[in-house]
Amino acid sequence: MDLSKIDHIGIAVESVDEASVFYRDVLGLELIGTDEVPSQKVRVAMFKIGESKIELLEPTSPDSSIAVFLEKKGQGIHHIAYGVTDVNGTVTELMEKEVKMIDKEPRPGAGGSKIAFIHPRASGRVLTELCQH
Ligand code: ZN
Repeated sequence: MDLSKIDHIGIAVESVDEASVFYRDVLGLELIGTDEVPSQKVRVAMFKIGESKIELLEPTSPDSSIAVFLEKKGQGIHHIAYGVTDVNGTVTELMEKEVKMIDKEPRPGAGGSKIAFIHPRASGRVLTELCQH
């Protein structure tokens, strides 16, 4: 395993614009950028905090997994993402250990990253993302 740091914490929000007020204006975090990720049907805003980031996720479609999450649980922490240098290799290694994956193959994430999610059933119900930049 080549997990090196907490890359970011993903937070589900109703509105990236409304939630950004707290992170930008109250906490004073630097907005790195916004992005739309069609594969996940989300709009994303990334804030820098040290070597990690806060990722705000707003659904762009009612069938987005973030929309489903908001309906069930409301706004809040959605996932933790670990930074890796080789997401393909990490996924292969996890599958060799018979860890249940949501993504058996990495897919495009925000800001040109490659990501893969571990199934929450394998990780004590904490949705876990692997993220390579
Ligand atoms: Zn994420």
